Amino acid sequence: MIAITARQLREIKTPFYFYDVELLDKTLQLAVREAKRHDFHLHYALKANANPRLLEIIRERGLGADCVSGNEVEAAIKSGFPAGSIVYAGVGKSDEEIRLALQQEISCFNCESFPELEVINDIAGAMGKTARVSLRVNPNVDAHTHHYITTGVEENKFGFPVDDLEQAVNRCRELPNIEWTGLHFHVGSQITDTSVFRSLCERVNEIQRGIAARGLVPSRVNFGGGLGVDYDDPDARPVPDFAAYFQAFADSFERLPGQQVHFEPGRPVVAQCGSLVTRVLYVKEGKNKKFIILDAGMNDLIRPALYQARHRIENISALLDEPLEPYDVVGPVCESSDCFGKAVPLPVTTRRGDFFAIRSCGAYGEVMASRYNLRPIAPSRFSND
Ligand SMILES: *Cc1c(COP(=O)(O)O)cnc(C)c1O
Repeated sequence: MIAITARQLREIKTPFYFYDVELLDKTLQLAVREAKRHDFHLHYALKANANPRLLEIIRERGLGADCVSGNEVEAAIKSGFPAGSIVYAGVGKSDEEIRLALQQEISCFNCESFPELEVINDIAGAMGKTARVSLRVNPNVDAHTHHYITTGVEENKFGFPVDDLEQAVNRCRELPNIEWTGLHFHVGSQITDTSVFRSLCERVNEIQRGIAARGLVPSRVNFGGGLGVDYDDPDARPVPDFAAYFQAFADSFERLPGQQVHFEPGRPVVAQCGSLVTRVLYVKEGKNKKFIILDAGMNDLIRPALYQARHRIENISALLDEPLEPYDVVGPVCESSDCFGKAVPLPVTTRRGDFFAIRSCGAYGEVMASRYNLRPIAPSRFSND
């Protein structure tokens, strides 16, 4: 069940994103506590959700920021994240974005290619600055997640191939306006099998041993994000298991003396605190099935259409013990992929006007909304409003 009040349901026009800020804060407290145990640094990945109200809460708990665009760097600064806590990744940073990040004196660029290194060096030189750079390495570790959110195998566009790493570090050391700080990895998202993180550590140990043997010692290692959440049963596991996640790295990563270890969680911080609240427009009898047509569509929440993601769908107007039957739950957008779930068991009494909650929408929900079909952007509301 979501923490929304009858008054909020009455007063707000659907669809809207609803955020349980108490749950967000609880999640943050746990993540910070578990990271501190091992002296790990956290940078929240803004791309999961850059809602200013959420950013403020996240910043207050002391996380840094992980950005993938100039506008995200600006949003982080505007929300009060210290520049020294901001890291910036992405395969296609524009000159303007690099300039902005240098101007703001962010902590570090996570650099992904040789030509990018040259451009950062040139721009930093022209500005009379030194750019701190970590090299993003593609470790060729399969995250065993959906192929659209797998980023650490060789066919992906991300990072330097391991074979190029030594040359890349040497290039950093030659370039006068670049200071090499370390290594960066991010192998994928929604990873629920901790053995993937253990494999990543083993691979990183091997990579690190290889370059350390040549006197190239990274002062920081950043493991990116990727911890998954329970989309099937958000009430059973509202807070992801940060303890087991960080423990896997503490156990399996061979940390060098004085080395800083960083993480960039996005989804596990914000996914479970958000729901998309929507109403039933129509219950439609198809030929062999029944459809529930909602007033929220793929423009509001694209994850099911984009990555075949599953979200728990609840009729929050119905009584808990109603008999259930299967419905396809769809939106109003003119695309067959505008479908939130097939054969979802929902109350037989479901009717026009019922409120629905699509759960676990805090990450990659609101932030990916579009105006497709010229639909409006859904507003956001908060449990403490
Ligand atoms: C997307 C991304 C993250 C966040 O990933 P989550 O799975 O949401 O935790 C972290 N780092 C980088 C570089 C990313 O691209």
